[in-house]
Amino acid sequence: MLPSYHRTKNSKFEPAVQSLQALKKGMIIFMNIVETNNLKKYYGKDPNMTKALDGVSLSISKGSFTAIVGTSGSGKTTLLNMLGGLDTPTEGTVIIGEKQIHSMNDEQLTIFRRRNIGFVFQNYNLVPILNSYENIMLPSDLDGDTVDKSYLEKIVQLLGLREKLYNMPNQLSGGQQQRVAIARALVGKPAILLADEPTGNLDSKSSANVMEILKQANLSFGQTIVMITHNELLAQMVDTIIRIEDGRIAESR
Ligand code: ADP
Repeated sequence: MLPSYHRTKNSKFEPAVQSLQALKKGMIIFMNIVETNNLKKYYGKDPNMTKALDGVSLSISKGSFTAIVGTSGSGKTTLLNMLGGLDTPTEGTVIIGEKQIHSMNDEQLTIFRRRNIGFVFQNYNLVPILNSYENIMLPSDLDGDTVDKSYLEKIVQLLGLREKLYNMPNQLSGGQQQRVAIARALVGKPAILLADEPTGNLDSKSSANVMEILKQANLSFGQTIVMITHNELLAQMVDTIIRIEDGRIAESR
């Protein structure tokens, strides 16, 4: 049986999703939030050099949902790490918003990441000694930032986390832990949300639920999302699919 997102006619979100999708298609969004130019990341030295990224130029428009697909070892995680300022390129440029992050030092990158990038990882990366609410608030607390309480309310509602806010991570299912991680990534209203195989550890039902939530965050909050996935069915739910092969863009559609 196909996962539930393929039975979207039955989804309670369906009318809203359809009208928002139509609206989104009708609007021509020219504003790019991410741009890379001739991005390269080489590991090691000849003759054992690995060209993890070998000249990637792309642009991602504000409010879009992009999937990065490709076989294992093709360079997907390296690309996502470059977009999130988790690693620095060998050559080329990465611009997020109006900031040239390829030329930032470690300290500048740390602050930039905290304020502008939301990360969601396959293994959730929750802090085990903090409850859901404390995990969600952690990045803003670290930054000494105040959170938009009404936005937090909307996120908790959308993610169905109200009953689980005071549970510890080990009292939550994988899908619930990933929803906490998504809430944590969303709450600071990041310029982009980067997700590396967010459904990789989940069963098909929880995967569909997480994917529906990401889609809703994209449509309802206009959240720009870039997601790595091995799952071709999930990839088809997004606006743009970028296929990476041997560190290069093989296809973008
Ligand atoms: P994917 O995410 O598509 O599986 P990666 O971006 O993780 O691919 O890796 C791309 C290539 O770069 C692979 O050949 C991998 O072995 C290599 N690679 C990634 N990180 C490192 C590293 N820190 N040192 C050396 N080689 C690396």
